[in-house]
Amino acid sequence: MTLVDTHCHLQDAKFSDDREETIARTLAALEWCVVIGDDLPSSRAGLDITRDRIYAAVGVHPYYPETVDDAGIASLRELAAHDRVIAIGEIGLDYHLGGEDVPAQHRAFNRQLELAAELQLPVVIHSRDAADDTLAIMADHCKTVPDIVMHCFSGDASFAERCVVLGCYISFAGNVSFPKAEPLREAARVVPSDRLLVETDAPYLAPQPRRGKRCEPPFVQYTLEAVATARGDDPEVLARQTTENAHRFFRVSSASKPLVD
Ligand SMILES: [Zn+2]
Ligand SMILES: [Zn+2]
Repeated sequence: MTLVDTHCHLQDAKFSDDREETIARTLAALEWCVVIGDDLPSSRAGLDITRDRIYAAVGVHPYYPETVDDAGIASLRELAAHDRVIAIGEIGLDYHLGGEDVPAQHRAFNRQLELAAELQLPVVIHSRDAADDTLAIMADHCKTVPDIVMHCFSGDASFAERCVVLGCYISFAGNVSFPKAEPLREAARVVPSDRLLVETDAPYLAPQPRRGKRCEPPFVQYTLEAVATARGDDPEVLARQTTENAHRFFRVSSASKPLVD
């Protein structure tokens, strides 16, 4: 089965003891993967572990909006100049904890979307309990950034449909396989097949068969199987389709080299 993990955090401290072994398992099981940053140090650390078939995305998560000042944007621009950086992310809005500085999150999100437009890089969006505001801000930028994916999709079918109308891709993570995740499986059914991506968000959110364990990129196979079952698709066919989508979204050629426009 040919698969891509479009969203993992292999630079995370949970892989400190066996990072190289995990990378070897990942490269044996998957075509390629994208190591996602959630602040400046993790973006830099993600870039440090890139190599053949391991790419990076750089960005600042909505938990740390205060770091997205002029200096923060300059650092991201510098990191993004590296040819193994293929996206800006993860960036977005997260109102889950409550008490967050919403205007600061909006500013950080807007500034990083502007950077993605300037650099013409696709964007990996994290949106949690912030569907309407995320859609409003995306609507302002969806014509200027090359492409947007809603990572670890956690909304309902109607939110998925509204994202697709804006031209977004939708990426499902291991939580789509959880027994109580029927709303996520409903969302998976309404996404057109050429807009679907799969991911692990490793080390978080291990899929049901490995729930409670540290998640690793090869587990993306369980995500794919859960999405295929929800949609009534043949897993092999859906694997090929989502991999083709990942190549198109991240501008990575079949030879796993970035395409030059
Ligand atoms: Zn996220
Ligand atoms: Zn993530």
